[in-house]
Amino acid sequence: MDMEQSPSEALIAPLRSRRGRQHYFPTITDQDWNDWKWQLRNRVTTLEELAQLMPIPEGELPIRREILRGFRMGISPYYLSLIDADDPDDPIMRQAVPLHDEFIYRNVGEEDPLHEEELSPVPGITHRYPDRVLMVISNSCAMYCRHCTRKRLMAEDSIPDLEIDQMVDYIARTPVIRDVIVSGGDPLTCTTERLEHILQKLRAIPHVEVIRIGSRVPVTMPMRVDDELCRMLEKYHPLWINVHFNHPRECTPEAARACDRLLRAGIPLNNQSVLLRGVNDNVETMRELVHCLMKMRVRPYYLFQCDPIRGAEHLRTPVARGIEIMDKLRGYTSGLAVPTYVIDAPGGGGKIPVGPKYLVSYDVKLGKAVLRNFQGKIYEYHDPPPAGQLVFSDASPNGRGEPEAPKKKSKWVRRKNGTSASAAGSKDEPRGKKRAEPARPS
Ligand SMILES: *Cc1c(COP(=O)(O)O)cnc(C)c1O
Ligand code: SF4
Repeated sequence: MDMEQSPSEALIAPLRSRRGRQHYFPTITDQDWNDWKWQLRNRVTTLEELAQLMPIPEGELPIRREILRGFRMGISPYYLSLIDADDPDDPIMRQAVPLHDEFIYRNVGEEDPLHEEELSPVPGITHRYPDRVLMVISNSCAMYCRHCTRKRLMAEDSIPDLEIDQMVDYIARTPVIRDVIVSGGDPLTCTTERLEHILQKLRAIPHVEVIRIGSRVPVTMPMRVDDELCRMLEKYHPLWINVHFNHPRECTPEAARACDRLLRAGIPLNNQSVLLRGVNDNVETMRELVHCLMKMRVRPYYLFQCDPIRGAEHLRTPVARGIEIMDKLRGYTSGLAVPTYVIDAPGGGGKIPVGPKYLVSYDVKLGKAVLRNFQGKIYEYHDPPPAGQLVFSDASPNGRGEPEAPKKKSKWVRRKNGTSASAAGSKDEPRGKKRAEPARPS
């Protein structure tokens, strides 16, 4: 590449040889390759096109054709170039290409398990939480994920302006909404102009404090994140973007550059991964992914349990797998790198955090919490005494009229001479210092 590398790009390993642009698209010029409209126009959408790029096992063609009747395929040349065609279990391929096991389970699952359409005051809006709404402004994506939760929408044509106006109108007349999630489909597949019109209208609503965009474009078509887009977006702050990286191999120099540009435009980036069987359902992959994200300054936000969507059954994992992965992240890597693992409740209950149990037991009356740390060791924590309960009397705690021997001193803090145990419980006692055991009912 001609431009200077950003520090995060340099940290990301370059692609190996049996995949990549040189392998699949050796004759495409830089000008075309780096033009997002070329990428969008040249998405691989038919099995005939796909078969020219990578081998499709014999007998698979009719099966895959049947799958595509249920859910379209569309893969940007860039994202396709990340596939290792020699590996039948390639994690990038599993996300983008219809494979045999999708056919086996094709009738299992629901169209709209999260009941997004039930909680919809106007088409395109889901209002599930008190202060924020989801707004679907596009049903086009740079790559159609086999695990997409909104597969049901991806078959339709583009969303008419009239519908967008009705969504904006709903937000404008609903003052409790302070956070709008602009999603899709992928909002960044819209032209910059169209997206700006929508952002302008949302920004004109006084009670809309935060606008969030959900987009997989930095992962699947990073050349979309150009200067024109960033200059436009930065006019509509406070604006946040949630991205969707699922595998460390998606963290390419190009993706890192796209993230860097958005961050320089002042847009905080958070990642929402989906836990997918055969893609990222093991500790090593997930740890590598969150480390790659941290290097790109993208904060891991959510790890989603895969929704019971029709056509994604082959990608689902048991909840136990997610819990196990979370258990091996917390404590073993930076807290900033640990996402919240959530299940979006089927039936429309919203995102519910799940994870390993660290609070083994908690007795509110005794004020005692039993805790487990990341290594499985057990610790106790005691609540402060209830307000008004006399705990530290003037008489010494040992009842013999003698001051109690000071508790073990911190290795780090040298205390002044003259500090005696009788000062225990005084107002200017440093916070967090171990105090005499308070009297408690038992
Ligand atoms: C996920 C989601 C949101 C946003 O949830 P956060 O936890 O705030 O990120 C809002 N509305 C709907 C319908 C959602 O599915
Ligand atoms: S980018 Fe998002 S909306 Fe588009 S197919 Fe993938 S998961 Fe669905």
